[in-house]
Amino acid sequence: MTIARDRLRVAVQKSGRLAETSLSLLRRAGLSFRASRDRLFLYGENLPIDVLLVRDDDIPGLLMEGSCELGIVGRNVLAEQRLTALPGTDAPAERLALGFGGCRLSLAVTDGGPITVPAQLDGLRIATSYPGLLADWLAVNGIRAEIVVLSGSVEIAPRLGKADAICDLVSSGATLAANQLHELVAILHSEAVLAASPHPLGSAKAEQVERLCARIEGAQSSDGARLLMLQAPRAALAAITRLLPVRESPSVLSLDGLPDDIAVQALCSGALDWQHLEDLKRLGARGLMVLNVERMLA
Ligand code: ATP
Ligand code: MG
Repeated sequence: MTIARDRLRVAVQKSGRLAETSLSLLRRAGLSFRASRDRLFLYGENLPIDVLLVRDDDIPGLLMEGSCELGIVGRNVLAEQRLTALPGTDAPAERLALGFGGCRLSLAVTDGGPITVPAQLDGLRIATSYPGLLADWLAVNGIRAEIVVLSGSVEIAPRLGKADAICDLVSSGATLAANQLHELVAILHSEAVLAASPHPLGSAKAEQVERLCARIEGAQSSDGARLLMLQAPRAALAAITRLLPVRESPSVLSLDGLPDDIAVQALCSGALDWQHLEDLKRLGARGLMVLNVERMLA
């Protein structure tokens, strides 16, 4: 049920990896808050914008039902929700990539085991909390594997004999290493994003959303911005775009005399490490170049 509200509501993770940085980003965007007694709400003191503190898994649902207009959540959670939503339902959209909470959803296998390339997963079992994203990647790559859905502690599934591989979030890789696992391939590069409800807003709220987005973008300086340039087969564009930590849609240019190829220029936020470049190369990208961005004006 949607209650008519004048004030904008932003859903933020209550505690966890994104909680603190999400709130400090809103503060850097000029918002100040006073906490409710039950600490589930932060009332905006200087703008008509309140914060709802929730579990990250609840954020896409809150946006879909219209209880919140905006949310800060990992792209992984948003993308999974989009793939598993009932057909015909409008999913929340990613408004801004926020440049923190970076991680990747990766396939991982047991150290010293028989599996060395993803194709060997055909006919095997893969444990994950992200069945939608995994099923999509397996279909694109023509691999038929059984998906074992687990809500947590995915990394111990191989040792328990529940699965032959896992598909889980990785940042440093320390959790994988502690469980004698290593990464095979990343299927999604993720970071925290500002997501928007699919419901249309009245003009006053729409104006608040635009204002908040502009302030957040202003607060994220060009610090950490990178321009990634590469060439690739045109057919690989969608798969490549999914792996880019992009701030906005990449520019795609035709190449003289090479109708099946494109040049891509993408403004990226956060780290673009060797692993990123290797994952892109595996998709057919070549001539990869990462440039620091000195100055930007939108
Ligand atoms: P909640 O109690 O809100 O449900 P959670 O345990 O599901 O929390 P966290 O572990 O706090 O979630 O992770 C939140 C988000 O942080 C993830 O969805 C992901 O986008 C990002 N993240 C960054 N690095 C990692 C990592 N190494 N492992 C898991 N998530 C990571
Ligand atoms: Mg969660």
